[in-house]
Amino acid sequence: MEKNYRVLLYYKYVPIEDPETLTEEHLEYCKNLGLRGRILIASEGMNGTVSGTVEQTNQYMEDLRKDPRFEDIEFKIDEADGHAFKKMHVRHRSEIVSLRLDEDVNPNEQTGEYLEPEEFYEAMQDEDTIVLDARNDYEYDLGHFRGAIRPEINSFRELPEWVQENKDKLEGKQILTYCTGGIRCEKFSGWLKEEGFDNVKQLHGGIVTYGKDDKVKGKMWDGKCYVFDERISVPINQVEHVVVGRDHFDGEPCERYVNCSNPECNKQILCSEENEHKYLRGCTPECRVHPRNRYVEEHELTNEEWDERLQQLGEELTSQAK
Ligand SMILES: [Zn+2]
Repeated sequence: MEKNYRVLLYYKYVPIEDPETLTEEHLEYCKNLGLRGRILIASEGMNGTVSGTVEQTNQYMEDLRKDPRFEDIEFKIDEADGHAFKKMHVRHRSEIVSLRLDEDVNPNEQTGEYLEPEEFYEAMQDEDTIVLDARNDYEYDLGHFRGAIRPEINSFRELPEWVQENKDKLEGKQILTYCTGGIRCEKFSGWLKEEGFDNVKQLHGGIVTYGKDDKVKGKMWDGKCYVFDERISVPINQVEHVVVGRDHFDGEPCERYVNCSNPECNKQILCSEENEHKYLRGCTPECRVHPRNRYVEEHELTNEEWDERLQQLGEELTSQAK
């Protein structure tokens, strides 16, 4: 059955003269239209993901394309059962995606060669090719291209440093980069070229476009694709589903993300429902005894019940920890 909602993912690197004014106007416009989501606007362009009904999202795409700056913007469209966000935010930022480089890259001047899904699929299987995931570790852990390198970084901003330290792995190779919708690779591949790597290519439209392509059907993608909305993940490989996610506590195959119950930690961890209860959704013994543990609050555990659970785990009790 046809679904009534859509989630749009889009970006455009284009000079924007007065991003503050556009931010205000765009927020007003989106709210009036009834959309929900997150949009970033900077002098270098716009980056957004919004949800709404078919009519609302169609209207949005039509209106945005009327603006000469965005007439050729590409939208990735997902069907959805409802909104994927709770609110509508439009924010002004210094960059629409942050690499925090000493010298910023303008993708309109310097970027890797675009490969369409079929070309990327072929190129991944070439010899002397390195596939580099340009996303965060928690995104990689849920799903990635088979054989892709997971840079040991906690955020995109640490990627340049990682590349510097791993130059020997990359030199002389064809480097393929990919990310969710393509926006991060525009700068990252451009940055790699400026670092002196000549043979750099990027997946045009990102993983989500790859997953919708009729020819490749998401092949060679393992797991699911992390997305930054309430859906948390979307399927990519239409041919087979190989689970690569592993439960934080017992290492069993798992694709269920939760946030650590310690509000000061809030780390995303993969864990089964069973282990969520067993470990009070805390990622470490310290998080499990945090005085504002959200699992304890949600389940209205008494201090005795709390200590009882910790005792079963052979851990320090809250009364001792406090
Ligand atoms: Zn934690």
